[in-house]
Amino acid sequence: MNRVLIVGAGFFGAVTAERLAVDAGIPVTVIDRRSHIGGNSWSEWDSETGVEFHKYGSHIFHTSNAEVWSYITRFTDFNQYRHSVWTTSRGKVYPMPISLATINSYYGKNLSPDQAKELIRKEAAEFTGEPANLEEKAISQIGRPLYEALIRGYTIKQWAKSPRELSAAIISRLPVRYTYDTRYFSDPHEGIPLRGYAALFTNLLKYEKIEVRLNTSYADILAQCGGRFPGLVVYTGAIDEFFQYRLGRLDWRTLDLEWDRPNCADYQGTAVMNYADEDVPYTRIHEFKHYHPERSDTGKTLICREYPHAAKGNDEPFYPVDTQRNRELYPAYVALARAESPEIIFGGRLGGYKYIDMDATIAAALECYRNNIVPLIQSL
Ligand code: UDP
Repeated sequence: MNRVLIVGAGFFGAVTAERLAVDAGIPVTVIDRRSHIGGNSWSEWDSETGVEFHKYGSHIFHTSNAEVWSYITRFTDFNQYRHSVWTTSRGKVYPMPISLATINSYYGKNLSPDQAKELIRKEAAEFTGEPANLEEKAISQIGRPLYEALIRGYTIKQWAKSPRELSAAIISRLPVRYTYDTRYFSDPHEGIPLRGYAALFTNLLKYEKIEVRLNTSYADILAQCGGRFPGLVVYTGAIDEFFQYRLGRLDWRTLDLEWDRPNCADYQGTAVMNYADEDVPYTRIHEFKHYHPERSDTGKTLICREYPHAAKGNDEPFYPVDTQRNRELYPAYVALARAESPEIIFGGRLGGYKYIDMDATIAAALECYRNNIVPLIQSL
């Protein structure tokens, strides 16, 4: 079989490349138009503070998928970091996601789990049926006062849409707990790559059969081979861009990250502080040193404030926007891909237009390799 071309060196592309090279023994070229591998999970070191930072905002690896955990731990060890998030609302700090600690702190009470459930049941009484959107889902789970204090403003800033227009699935990412467990994630496996995401991606792509070409776009490759790559293409970029927005643009949210080195050793005492109030222009502040409590403290710190906005022009797409229009437009692109480019496999958060985490992206790549790519290779 000819060399395979993989467009994009994020998790979907890197895992697919590793499987093709190591499992199938097929040579692969991985291209990325950026100057680094790793997609949005890439990390770098800040020489001024000695702090490793996640270039595209916090990435915390967590999974319940045993296959993904056993696969990825072949390429990196993880530290013992357990993510917890705090959120500032109207001048007070609460633990996120909503737990018994949040409820008691917000209401100024010391309720037991059953008493808290009873309180929230009353606060949520306005909704009885099946929640039809993010707002209804949140109110049905936590009641209106907590929704208005901790969810509404953050969600409007994150998505620039009324929470009534957004899918309930977005808020279902967050658990609601009637315990004092304040961990952000509930998965059995969690941590940050011990030597960083850069080292993890370098390991995934280190094989002799994998050629990595940075600062190289798909258009560059097409120009070199007369408009059509002679072999299998796995495309992990945005599907609407692939078709030059022929059916219209899919909406993406992007993030502006404003970097700062405050003159102190510890700015906020935690990795992520959310800001729930609508009049605070950013959604959260990341302080990266907290992701590595096992490292010795450099006495300096690096933070970034996160400002979400609609992606335009050359902005990096980060989050697909789950609205009716996009839910209809994406399948239209998939149909176009089947009709015009059946030899191209689309995948990843961008190619699949799916709000998925790193572990789900790896799971999707492993599944795509097994179910789509291997049969294709065998048929050739
Ligand atoms: N969310 C919120 N308040 C918070 C944190 C999250 O309202 O303090 C909502 C918001 O709508 C967000 C969604 O929950 O888009 C999912 O949050 P998550 O932390 O999973 O988002 P990510 O880290 O992927 O940006």
